[in-house]
Amino acid sequence: MSVRSVPFFNYQAVFKAKEDEYMAVLRDVLARGAYIMQRDLSEFEDNLKSFLKVKHVFGVADGTNAIILGLRACGVGPGDEVILPSHTYVATAAAVQLVGGTPVPVDIRADDHMLDAAAAEAAISPRTKAIIAVQVNGRTCDMDALRDVADRHGVMVLEDAAQGLGSRFKGKCAGTFGKFGTFSFYPAKLLGCFGDGGAVVTDDDAIAERLGLLRDHGRNADGQVVEWGTNSRLDNMQAAILDFKLKTYDEDMARRRQIAAAYQSLLGDLEQLRLPPAPDADPRHFDVYQNYEIEADRRDELRAFLKERGIGAMPQWAGTPIHGFRELGFDMRLPVTDRFFERCLMIPMNMSLSDDDVAYVADNVREFYRRA
Ligand SMILES: *Cc1c(COP(=O)(O)O)cnc(C)c1O
Repeated sequence: MSVRSVPFFNYQAVFKAKEDEYMAVLRDVLARGAYIMQRDLSEFEDNLKSFLKVKHVFGVADGTNAIILGLRACGVGPGDEVILPSHTYVATAAAVQLVGGTPVPVDIRADDHMLDAAAAEAAISPRTKAIIAVQVNGRTCDMDALRDVADRHGVMVLEDAAQGLGSRFKGKCAGTFGKFGTFSFYPAKLLGCFGDGGAVVTDDDAIAERLGLLRDHGRNADGQVVEWGTNSRLDNMQAAILDFKLKTYDEDMARRRQIAAAYQSLLGDLEQLRLPPAPDADPRHFDVYQNYEIEADRRDELRAFLKERGIGAMPQWAGTPIHGFRELGFDMRLPVTDRFFERCLMIPMNMSLSDDDVAYVADNVREFYRRA
């Protein structure tokens, strides 16, 4: 098979795919001089509300600030412990730390590498205030199991759904289970803008009122400052692009599921691999595959082999889970997560892939193990 280039993510291709439409959207915003807290933002927020079936949506600066604002709105602060899966981006833990709380990383499940509800329960202490479910790789955790643990111990469930937009558990969207849910619109995320962007969503009116204040300097509708807030607003150019992309987001989700099904059929028989759950594996889960994260024997050699063939593959979070950050004071072992991080590898999963690209990736993975 001839060599082709299948980068892990192709930023230029995203723009090129609909260049004229994007430029028209941006020109419209620029011509109106509507940059901050204008119509484009409120329209996007309304459309995201309908998509998620949630009562309140706030566009904010990015997915990290979304978590920080959500934690503040829920009163998480000094002295509070917050449990989260170690298989997440540093942002989840950093947000807890930055509001004065203590992030407590726990183990993941071996079958789907999501937060393990039993591990979360084992980590609950008298200081535990909340559990953050991280809806990683475009999958929603088993929220029944988590809700059960949280209710029995009287702690809040919160959601970092930065990687979960549109994924569902028993028909309900990621981000709408917790006291609040957060999203990231970083360019390589499921719904990406051309810069940084994020959202925090909630069904709770009181939390919504605080979120509205916190993201805009604590100013109420009359412009009066009523509490300490910050500047964390999604700007209108990004909101307008996101609103445009949201219109065809159903097609994006379908395409990602199609790619996952293709990988499943092309690689599912290799005993050296463990693939993520297939799109039709469990009717309770609707997965949208932000990433396609496999477990692989001889992971580093496989990655190097793919690189020679022009294929971008990488372990998530540069290969380090939260509890592996010694510089941040963590010093612990989490057996399932530790084993997972010795083997995990993300292979290309994005909207720029052609069917031939997907076949090329799969062929080369097979080729690597054939040679072994
Ligand atoms: C991307 C991401 C974030 C942070 O989002 P930003 O928009 O980059 O701040 C938080 N949590 C998870 C799981 C992410 O993947």
